[in-house]
Amino acid sequence: MEPYRMYIDGKFCDAEAGAVTESLNPATEEKIAAFPLATAKDMEAAIRAARRAFDEGPWPRMSLAERGAYLVRIAQEIREAAFDLARVETLDTGKTTKQTTFIDIPVAANAYEYFAGAAGEIKGETLAVPAPAMSYTLREAVGVVGAIIPWNYPFLMAAWKIASSIILGNTVVLKPSREASLSCLELARVFHKVDLPPGVVNIVTGQGVVLGQHLAGSTAVDMITFTGSTDVGRGVMRAAASNLKKLTLELGGKSPNIVLADADLEAAAGGSLCAIFMNQGQMCVAGSRLIVEEKVYDVFLEMIATKTKKLKVGDPQDPATDLGPLISAAQKKIVLDYIAVGRKEGRLVAGGGAPKDLSKGYYVEPTVFADVGNNARIAREEIFGPVLCVLKARDAEEAVRIANDTDFGLAGMVWTRDIAAATTIAQRLRCGTVWVNTYGGFYNEAPFGGYKQSGFGRELGREGLTEMTQVKHVNVDLTPGGKSLVTSWFNV
Ligand code: NAP
Ligand code: MG
Repeated sequence: MEPYRMYIDGKFCDAEAGAVTESLNPATEEKIAAFPLATAKDMEAAIRAARRAFDEGPWPRMSLAERGAYLVRIAQEIREAAFDLARVETLDTGKTTKQTTFIDIPVAANAYEYFAGAAGEIKGETLAVPAPAMSYTLREAVGVVGAIIPWNYPFLMAAWKIASSIILGNTVVLKPSREASLSCLELARVFHKVDLPPGVVNIVTGQGVVLGQHLAGSTAVDMITFTGSTDVGRGVMRAAASNLKKLTLELGGKSPNIVLADADLEAAAGGSLCAIFMNQGQMCVAGSRLIVEEKVYDVFLEMIATKTKKLKVGDPQDPATDLGPLISAAQKKIVLDYIAVGRKEGRLVAGGGAPKDLSKGYYVEPTVFADVGNNARIAREEIFGPVLCVLKARDAEEAVRIANDTDFGLAGMVWTRDIAAATTIAQRLRCGTVWVNTYGGFYNEAPFGGYKQSGFGRELGREGLTEMTQVKHVNVDLTPGGKSLVTSWFNV
């Protein structure tokens, strides 16, 4: 593959110091491409370009329909290049081809198209202030948005953040994860192809500690939309205090997946595997705590263990593969260390290490620990890998108590045939999304985000679009000769 270049002010460029870093294929540990290792000076150039594009450029002054037409073309170009984009995403991240082909790339294309149409819903109101006056609100763009994304869904996270920002007239500086930058640099080619005006989206690659910190701390940036770990999120929040910039944080999770005794157990078992082993468990909304009602605990655990042992770990490009490698050697070590902890805290019923038949690649077996207490480290800390904890609950009441006993609050799942019970539990779970008899239902129309230390702010839906705006109140006094309380306040 030829070296990739960054995208700043509508031009492809190298890092100011000429430095590059390399992307590895996590399945083979081989280098696949070089891309720029930018400096803070490069980040500054990108911020200035985004600032200029917002303050002086045509973008925020275009009609919604004109901006929407760009987004529709972006969606079309992504669909035309979908095969290659999915291939790059799989090579760079180890995500299975099944996943990148059916989820990451097409869902991203849909997001650009959806936001092109949905932004018309974001509008001000006329307010019933005492007459004679007219008051109304305007929903205006925030300005320059810094978008920082993780490595688990790079192309899709970029879409959520970029589409919802630029449709409303904001301009963007995107900082992808150093572990997964290639598909975002491919995306730059799409933007260039559709002649997106210079500076509307800038993409800068390199180290988070350097670039992410600079972006979050810059006083020329109006807002940060961050997705990543809770600890880095805290640091971003501190840096964003420089100019008190607007902030949304989508952080980690330890989501409870409750299975009640009356559930369709076959469906619940399949859904529970999807909830923890999809994307090798590297999902912020992973159902990593499976809480099973006592009456069906043994039988359900048996189903989970049996099915887990049948999952096929291997080459992510093979359509028959269920789990590819993790993103990096470092992530593999983190997960294996947690498995070592888990051996002391729970009863291992499936997996438990790196697959013996794969000598290269950052593979970890899908692993299940039974009889885990909710105070165990593996039940409290986000592992971000294919490790499931199974917990026993006496009844629905105890299941909800365990579910809520966590610092996180991103998502929760409940499996039951009793829809009244499900809706009651949905109300009691302290988290931003609840899935009933399903998992992973993300819709462009529905807001997504966290409670508690899973962050704040929402993406997708009307709420997600509204985040990318600020509200202005305009008050027009219609009193003939002016309102005397104001015009004659001083009797001079
Ligand atoms: P991470 O280490 O927090 O990194 C996220 C992003 O922040 C990356 O682009 C990273 O760049 C950058 N970064 C690193 N240090 C920074 C700093 N000091 N200041 C500013 N930016 C910095 O997270 P990750 O390991 O990529 O992703 C896994 C985490 O993301 C998990 O905790 C997961 O739960 C969370 N996540 C949450 C959601 C959600 O929507 N709630 C979705 C996906 C993932 P580098 O990679 O170059 O260091
Ligand atoms: Mg890579």
